[in-house]
Formats: sequence, C-alpha cells, structure tokens
Amino acid sequence: MHPDNSRRVLRLRGHHLLCLLGYRGMGYSAEFCTNMTSIYETLRQEPGTWVELVGGPDDLCAYYPKDQHSHCEGTVHERDEDVLARLGLRIGTRHRWKNIVRSVARHIEQEAISSICSTCPWEPYGVCREGVRLVRAGEPLPPVARST
Ligand code: SF4
Repeated sequence: MHPDNSRRVLRLRGHHLLCLLGYRGMGYSAEFCTNMTSIYETLRQEPGTWVELVGGPDDLCAYYPKDQHSHCEGTVHERDEDVLARLGLRIGTRHRWKNIVRSVARHIEQEAISSICSTCPWEPYGVCREGVRLVRAGEPLPPVARST
C-alpha cells in the first residue's frame, strides 16, 4: 500500500484499465512487474484511489523495459480509444478507481476482450476475460504477491 495514497493520482491510459483487472503477476520484466503489482495492489486495496486518464504513456508504461521493442503504436492507441469509448470516459478526466470498475462491469462483457484485445499476446491466457467476469459478478480481484 502506498504510504500517502490519499494524495496520489495514478495516470493510466484506456486499455490499461482492463489490463489491471487481469493482472496476475505476469509482465515484461521483474521491474515492470514490481511496479504493476504495486499499482494493482494500491487499486485493489484502496478502490477510492484517483485515476487520471491519459492519452499516451502512463504509470505502467514508465517501467516498460528499455531494451525491449516498444509495442505502443497503432493498434494500442486504437485500443485505448475503444476502451474509453465503451466506458464513456475521456482523456484528461479523473475518476475514482471503484467508479471505473463499476463502469467496466456495466459496459464491457468478458467476451468483448477477445475483440478489443485481438492483437495482444496476453489475451490467450484468459486472465483479462476472467478479471472482467469477476467485476461483473461483483467479486473481488485476487491479491497478487509482491516480489521480494
Ligand atoms: S488482453 Fe492484453 S490489452 Fe487486453 S486487457 Fe489483457 S493485457 Fe490488456
């Protein structure tokens, strides 16, 4: 849990709102996963956390390994726009995480992940569909262990 989380605003891009629901500890590097676990657990444990929606690299992208080919072009921007449009949200606005989750539960069906995320290498694992299923069912997201 972040020590002064009451003042913290997380910056997230559209499609990462869904990625976070399906995050189960897998990622591009140990550093990337440490950061994503921290953000995931902050949101899971403190759903009142504010999130600012951004139109490009965000607090998750910041830890993408610099020695790996960046994939955030073309379809990724379209995916951001698609997710925000489905949720009725706009770049530059701020929302409490719990309200974003409510909006996902209301507007996105788990089967939609297959089409929204058709080019994502993580999609076949099914964890993001499961994340959407959980929030639609009103069930809690599982904890993800922090690496030591
Ligand atoms: S399938 Fe990929 S882009 Fe879609 S929510 Fe999961 S990790 Fe994110």
